Amino acid sequence: MSSRSASGATMRAFHRMWADLEEVGLDGSTGGYRRFAWTRTDHDLREWFAGECAARGLDVTTDRVGNQWAWWGDPDAAVAAGEPGVVVGSHLDSVVDGGAFDGPLGVVSGLAAIDALRERGVVPRRPVGLVSFVDEEGARFGTTCAGSRVVTGSLSADRARALRDATGTTMAEAISRFGGRPDDLGRDDEALARVGAFVELHVEQGRVLDVLGRPVGVGSDIWPHGRWRIDVPGMANHAGTTALDEREDAMLGLAAAVIAARQAAQERGCLATVGKVDVAPGGVNAIPSSVTCWLDARGPEASSVRDVVDDVRDVVAEFDALVTEEWWDAATSFDDGLTRRIADLLDDAPLIATGAGHDAGVMAGAGVPTAMVFVRNPTGVSHSPDEWATTDDCLAGVAALTAVVDDLVGDCAA
Ligand SMILES: [Zn+2]
Repeated sequence: MSSRSASGATMRAFHRMWADLEEVGLDGSTGGYRRFAWTRTDHDLREWFAGECAARGLDVTTDRVGNQWAWWGDPDAAVAAGEPGVVVGSHLDSVVDGGAFDGPLGVVSGLAAIDALRERGVVPRRPVGLVSFVDEEGARFGTTCAGSRVVTGSLSADRARALRDATGTTMAEAISRFGGRPDDLGRDDEALARVGAFVELHVEQGRVLDVLGRPVGVGSDIWPHGRWRIDVPGMANHAGTTALDEREDAMLGLAAAVIAARQAAQERGCLATVGKVDVAPGGVNAIPSSVTCWLDARGPEASSVRDVVDDVRDVVAEFDALVTEEWWDAATSFDDGLTRRIADLLDDAPLIATGAGHDAGVMAGAGVPTAMVFVRNPTGVSHSPDEWATTDDCLAGVAALTAVVDDLVGDCAA
């Protein structure tokens, strides 16, 4: 067995934790997970995380937005000494009917890595932190990485508090009902100062590693991406009595937008998706009086992504539609030195760029030296019950994360 293989105890701990989480938030009818922020399921996941940390003697604190941080070692003494800790972790929430791996793999692997380090008798020179970010997927309030964005200040407390879920509940109300304090929301410099480096392990959301035949890779950067709302006006009328040339059918603008987005993305080497639509009045026999849809666009170059949106804007202008930017994240590069160091450590692990957003991207954007480790997903599918990683690959991920933390906490150069 190589030094990179998980020991029997680590394997057993990994399996037990994975089994613990298997039923939490599982929807029996779809086979997918519904783990949304500030719900009963979120509560259960937080209790589970706190319990696992307590069982390891790790102190858990909650920051101003509700992200959970566990520490092995004293993070504040390390800040005072000018050598803040090395943090691993990810998130436990899911999209609607998400898979089991996106998020939890990073949290469970972090716990297993701490077990493995202890088993080896490692005494960290810098504290080791484990974070579970709240509301990464934005499944409930529509804004991804809300926990990391608020804590780093890139999402203002006022804007976060006012976000509404599908039932009209604001984030502030949801946090209150959860027993939290929405007034506390805001950038948390104390929590951030403790993070000297952040490494997020995540299941790959594509098949690059599968094609390369490698179980583990390292993130290079996150593509620039954004979200735009497209409002198409129309006029409601009877589907059976209104002549075609007398209609102002908002749905035609939607159709044009979807086709234009696809075409522009193809021409410009980007990705574009229209995945959410609101139609009014929403009757089978009524001509739509308005359609609102959301365009998600991403690509390797910011200018190309902007060009895709401009192309769509030009096409829908013919329908008097309005295109409004709701969110824009510039490209995020992970820390060069840290990334190279990790790739070298992991036998020249391949570097992977990703179009998916992550808390790691938000942390990197806030100036925290950050890196990502990806675990092979043979289906390439994510945000779906088909998301997958073999147990061997998950354990290879644990071993990789263990090696990374071992390397970093023994040396303050990171
Ligand atoms: Zn994720």
